[in-house]
Amino acid sequence: MFKFLKQVTDYAKGSVEAAKYIGQGFSVTFDHMKRRPVTVQYPYEKLIPSERYRGRIHFEFDKCISCEVCVRVCPINLPVVDWEFNKEVKKKELKHYSIDFGVCIFCGNCVEYCPTNCLSMTEEYELAAYDRHELNYDNVALGRLPTKVTEDPMVTPLKELGYLPKGVTEPHELSKKK
Ligand code: SF4
Ligand code: SF4
Repeated sequence: MFKFLKQVTDYAKGSVEAAKYIGQGFSVTFDHMKRRPVTVQYPYEKLIPSERYRGRIHFEFDKCISCEVCVRVCPINLPVVDWEFNKEVKKKELKHYSIDFGVCIFCGNCVEYCPTNCLSMTEEYELAAYDRHELNYDNVALGRLPTKVTEDPMVTPLKELGYLPKGVTEPHELSKKK
């Protein structure tokens, strides 16, 4: 009889423990249901980079005066400025310009100090390539106009998650006005 009672007591204790753990599990689940989604269904959805995002550098060949300031201010002397001196006009003539994004740390120094503003940072962040040598952009690749997440009809642009108001749990799509 005593053994039976002990078994019943142990069983009841076990049931209470199990109920406690199930309750804890549900509380975690319900807590997460109140939080906003942090996943993005890439590549169908893409986050809009922040205003001062430092992405792929855009270069305007015609504006460059081959002063090489961008090389001097770059922490790794990365930009390659290939120029020749034109004796007739007594000016440097730019032949070729390149930046290797496989090495660039996107610090923005070159953009900041360029005296003619021919460099600018875009919001392009999709720079993946199969071969790292493909990341060495010449002046043609650097001169390509940047693509925008908001202008791609195949993509649903999403606001930066950190900018959403607290407590917003709905899918973070942009309003039609923006
Ligand atoms: S700092 Fe600007 S103008 Fe001077 S070489 Fe670099 S890109 Fe050209
Ligand atoms: S962003 Fe920084 S690391 Fe990249 S080329 Fe410009 S100065 Fe160099």
